[in-house]
Amino acid sequence: MNNHIQESLINSYADGMLSSADSERVQSHLSECDICNCELQNIRDIKRRLAVLPSHRAPQELISRLKKTYLTPSVLTRIQQSFYFGWKPVSAFALLTLLFGLWFFTKNNVDEDTLSLEPLLAAHSRYEAENLVPGGDMMASNFSAQLAVYYGEKE
Ligand SMILES: [Zn+2]
Repeated sequence: MNNHIQESLINSYADGMLSSADSERVQSHLSECDICNCELQNIRDIKRRLAVLPSHRAPQELISRLKKTYLTPSVLTRIQQSFYFGWKPVSAFALLTLLFGLWFFTKNNVDEDTLSLEPLLAAHSRYEAENLVPGGDMMASNFSAQLAVYYGEKE
């Protein structure tokens, strides 16, 4: 028999901590395997010897150290917990800020589609004064044609 039961499983079996299915599986193997049966007897023997030893209360300092080492959540766990609980308001705020930014950007883009005529008229007056564009009524319906003639693109 080469598929022996793991020592930790035999330990749990000896403590009565296995599920009924696992317990039946271990029991079935033990009924056929002397090696694992011997292991179980050794474990039970150690438990019996330990049980009769006088018990002493562990020093408070040792208990504190063990609790601190093994019962304090790890840094990674604490970071994950803080993300899960503490960062929810931050995430909600970030989402709201993003939505507000999108709304603001969209709203301002609509405004940018509307051209302001004042700077264009001011520029036109300056170009007209410097003879860069023909004089006359810019609002006239044929101003584009006048421009074309001025630049020699049209006779
Ligand atoms: Zn075995």
